[in-house]
Amino acid sequence: MHRLSEEYEALRKSVEDFAHDVVAPVIGDYYEREEFPYDIVRQMGRMGLFGLPIPEEHGGMGGDYFALCLALEELARVDSSVAITVEAAVSLGAMPIYRFGTDEQRAEWLPRLASGELLGAFGLTEPGGGSDVPGGMRTTARLDGGEWVINGTKAFITNSGTDITGVVGVAAITGERNGKPEISTILVPAGTPGFTVSKKYSKVGWSASDTRELSFSDCRVPAENLLGERGRGYAQFLQTLDEGRIAIAALSVGLAQGCVDESLGYVRDRHAFGKPIGAYQAIQFKIADMETRAFTARLAYYHAAEKMLAGEPFKKEAAIAKLVSSNAAMDNARDATQIFGGYGFMNEYPVGRFYRDAKILEIGEGTSEVQRMLIARQLGLNDL
Ligand SMILES: Cc1cc2nc3c(=O)[nH]c(=O)nc-3n(C[C@H](O)[C@H](O)[C@H](O)COP(=O)(O)OP(=O)(O)OC[C@H]3O[C@@H](n4cnc5c(N)ncnc54)[C@H](O)[C@@H]3O)c2cc1C
Repeated sequence: MHRLSEEYEALRKSVEDFAHDVVAPVIGDYYEREEFPYDIVRQMGRMGLFGLPIPEEHGGMGGDYFALCLALEELARVDSSVAITVEAAVSLGAMPIYRFGTDEQRAEWLPRLASGELLGAFGLTEPGGGSDVPGGMRTTARLDGGEWVINGTKAFITNSGTDITGVVGVAAITGERNGKPEISTILVPAGTPGFTVSKKYSKVGWSASDTRELSFSDCRVPAENLLGERGRGYAQFLQTLDEGRIAIAALSVGLAQGCVDESLGYVRDRHAFGKPIGAYQAIQFKIADMETRAFTARLAYYHAAEKMLAGEPFKKEAAIAKLVSSNAAMDNARDATQIFGGYGFMNEYPVGRFYRDAKILEIGEGTSEVQRMLIARQLGLNDL
């Protein structure tokens, strides 16, 4: 897989061209206006990006998760808001329905999610905690007259309040088992009475993506909206997040590579002390380090994806990929901004956007500390 097949390469190239021709010219303005780019999302839907890993019988492209990762990397080379919109919609919104849903749930949601007509979201994090999910969870759902009645609040949920948001998978406590909270996932369609979406957060980065707080106040949905088995919510989101980490790693590699792309152009044009700044070894070494980080982080996510697609355990590899690639993104964003000097601090250049977008990669879908905990656990260190 380290050498892309013709099919993967064709996909990668078409997304590269799309990002360059369609996204790059306009995304800076959306970002500054903190506006969700509906037109770009529509076009990504037409290209099939929201259905990449979903089988054709459900309206998808019949590709695989690695294809999704390649697309995310190419999008994030240019912009992370559009990349995270696709990542969250597919990896967190549609994939759990595909993996755990009933035939009826798949038929109801997947064709519209795979085409990008609707966006899916995944509501796990709460104001009281995202790393320690069971410890921080206060949202409850109880059965009453054939309906789930949901109460609680979710924090920082991507894609949850757009005009085309279709459904949110909500993790909730549905009882107690062996003295521990029983967690289940319930599908809540947008617009259900009792489900309120707050106004968008003002964010440091990902400014053209949609992130909201959600509240549920006696929100009722049919009992059939339970996703998979009751009490399997914890296992479901662990699996969803393991996969999602490879996707976030791909997105991080894209940002890291975008920093190299931008810097390579700039150091040829910008002159100081009578030479292009790229002639100075201090600048060359910075760019060499940036390229090295992007390259090695890419190998890490390719490797994790390869294990996942082979059906082998990949938890450790996914955590390593997420950890090294988010570090690479942060380091490259810092170095690229430095190379651009004062212009690096201006929003009109993409590197300023990369700088603001990089930090969340060390936080979302498991912080860097959580990745280290997972890696240490896989090495048997939690048995001490
Ligand atoms: C823009 C954005 C989009 C998001 N989208 C979604 C979404 O779509 N769906 C969703 O469910 N969530 C989403 N999140 C939430 C995200 O996944 C959480 O913010 C993240 O998991 C961290 O949780 P927290 O913010 O509660 O931090 P906390 O869990 O409170 O952690 C705070 C700090 O303590 C550290 N820490 C915690 N426990 C330990 C420990 N045992 N040892 C060492 N350090 C520790 C953490 O690493 C972190 O540095 C999003 C967040 C953002 C900012």
